[in-house]
Amino acid sequence: MIKIEKLHKSYPIGKDSLHVLKGLDLHIKEGEFVAIMGSSGSGKSTLLNIVGLLDEHDSGNYYLNGQLIEKLDEKKAAILRNKFLGFVFQSFNLINYKTAVENVALPLYYQGIGRKERHDIAMQYLRKVGLEDWANHLPSEMSGGQKQRVAIARALVTKPKVVLADEPTGALDSTTSEAVMEMLKEINREGMTVFVITHEEDIAEQTDRIVRLKDGVIISDELTNNKATV
Ligand code: ADP
Ligand code: MG
Repeated sequence: MIKIEKLHKSYPIGKDSLHVLKGLDLHIKEGEFVAIMGSSGSGKSTLLNIVGLLDEHDSGNYYLNGQLIEKLDEKKAAILRNKFLGFVFQSFNLINYKTAVENVALPLYYQGIGRKERHDIAMQYLRKVGLEDWANHLPSEMSGGQKQRVAIARALVTKPKVVLADEPTGALDSTTSEAVMEMLKEINREGMTVFVITHEEDIAEQTDRIVRLKDGVIISDELTNNKATV
């Protein structure tokens, strides 16, 4: 599903550059539930942004669903994102002036789906995350956990093949984090590939595989007990 070979990425800093990813090799198969761990600044978000077609790598190969990703203009990247990927971020990234159901329906608008159908599908996904009764509320009227559930519904509404989550529990208390992790587990049980960034060991341990990043390289890549005992 995601195949990365010798991936490098630097950011220009004045006339210098900061070498963040230093030759990563990573293969994530369809249906896997993978956590990427590493301390702050280790390049986790950089990697996820490249995987999510939000940023470009400098060298190496990246294949998404078998397709070599190179020289994508923004329009092509947007089409691939809409078709294959769902995103969940630490800060939720909901649109503040749109209601929960409008936020969830938005990706369907970009797929050219009509208003009524968009609304119906979005309601179905809000129901799935237990927020049917909150459909007409604005994000400002919801708790952090509720906002993240709206964001998860929005990530799922296009039936992506991969869900990418960047510190999805980073802004939540432990009970709410637990609920969000349960939701990601369920998504994965339904067959979706889930790739989650975290720096919390107890979050990572709930996935099936932990990849550790340090100083721009992968220092370990191991299955967790969950996988070993299934
Ligand atoms: P993590 O998500 O693991 O905390 P990031 O991938 O966000 O780490 O960042 C890795 C390093 O790259 C950090 O030193 C960060 O400051 C730097 N960095 C991230 N994004 C940019 C950018 N757009 N321009 C310059 N430097 C960046
Ligand atoms: Mg980050």
